Amino acid sequence: MKKLLMLSFLISAGSFGQSSLNAKIDKSADKIESKVIDWRRDFHKHPELGNQEFRTAKIVADHLRSLGMEVTENVAVTGVVGILRGSKPGPMVALRADMDALPVAERNDLPFRSVNTGTYNGQETGIMHACGHDSHVAILMGVAEVLAGMKKQLEGSVKFIFQPAEEGIYEPGVTTFGAKQMVEEGVMTDVDAIFGLHIWAAIEAGKIGYRSGPFMAGVDNLEVTITGTQAHGASPWSGVDPIVTSAQAILGLQTILSRNVNIAENPAVVTVGAIHGGIRHNIIPEKVEMIGTIRTFGEEQQTLVHQRIHEIITNIAKSAGAKADVKIGKLYPSTVNPPELTDKMLPSLNAAAGIGNVISMDPVTGSEDFSFFQKEKPGFFIFLGGMKKGGDPLTTPSHHTPDFYIDEAGFVLGVRALSYFVVDYMGMKK
Ligand SMILES: [Zn+2]
Ligand SMILES: [Zn+2]
Repeated sequence: MKKLLMLSFLISAGSFGQSSLNAKIDKSADKIESKVIDWRRDFHKHPELGNQEFRTAKIVADHLRSLGMEVTENVAVTGVVGILRGSKPGPMVALRADMDALPVAERNDLPFRSVNTGTYNGQETGIMHACGHDSHVAILMGVAEVLAGMKKQLEGSVKFIFQPAEEGIYEPGVTTFGAKQMVEEGVMTDVDAIFGLHIWAAIEAGKIGYRSGPFMAGVDNLEVTITGTQAHGASPWSGVDPIVTSAQAILGLQTILSRNVNIAENPAVVTVGAIHGGIRHNIIPEKVEMIGTIRTFGEEQQTLVHQRIHEIITNIAKSAGAKADVKIGKLYPSTVNPPELTDKMLPSLNAAAGIGNVISMDPVTGSEDFSFFQKEKPGFFIFLGGMKKGGDPLTTPSHHTPDFYIDEAGFVLGVRALSYFVVDYMGMKK
């Protein structure tokens, strides 16, 4: 009897890794799992491009309203913000999901495969949730329901941010991102911390990936014009050849990563993706144009890489007697998890997934506009496993491809992890 009493004391004290608060969340998360999967399948079947998420936003807003939240629609075009006010005072914790799909024609043979097509930059295209944002919306709707059921206990408030256009809007003269616009419209002003996740096709369902510090790359666009002096191809000495100059400049750029960046600390990428110059075999053209992409981790590295690109291209052109015009357009900042917040939230991840299922990851050279929220307030971003158990991360179809596929078995862990973040950040007693 004494032993039994002791055992029950230990369980209620959380010594077995399961607090009563977490148990309550787990129970509601399990209960809502099939609803989350149904929502996701519906969104998957009806994907919408960035800033056109009208149907998705309506479903989200109706759901949040049905849970008794204060809801604002049309934030940053199609975004939805819901506020769940807890009964006790405390911080405002934000959770974010992105809602947009991509101009990709789905190739999966699923009962809920995408039925939508549309026009993207003037081209007819299929539309597909080829990055998994359908999962994010469904999971966050699930979290909203779980936490709304704990309203009386919550020691603080929760802001549910459903943002449009994470993949960015690239139209002639307009480049923008949903998160950036939401920040500009003030969604972060009263927020203390923000959390978000991305479903990840190369991590097994049931696992979570994270990284302390720079996690995903910052992205910038490179545009270069090298101007020489046109000449007959038979007498190059009578002109200044921008083609040879561009070739030297491209090779010169390779030394930024091999000789300037501390690659032991963080990687970086400089890719020239297109080069155009000339029209005929025996004409040295006047101009060569090049475009490319730059991936960096953190502001310090970004500044160094940008500076070296300018110096290398400008000076190589100068040495040839040519002129260089170098433009770098800043797109996404690097997604950086502040080490202090990461350390604080790691126990929540371990509790949600189990210690062996939480993986510290290498930096990812892809990017996320969640970084715009992180520039305002401390934010923690994680990857949620979406690969079938036993799958091969190297051969599993990657994000943004027509065969992209997500195993829904990982969703319930996403619901639990985000809910744990909220109650743990609020410092609620277990
Ligand atoms: Zn994407
Ligand atoms: Zn994405």
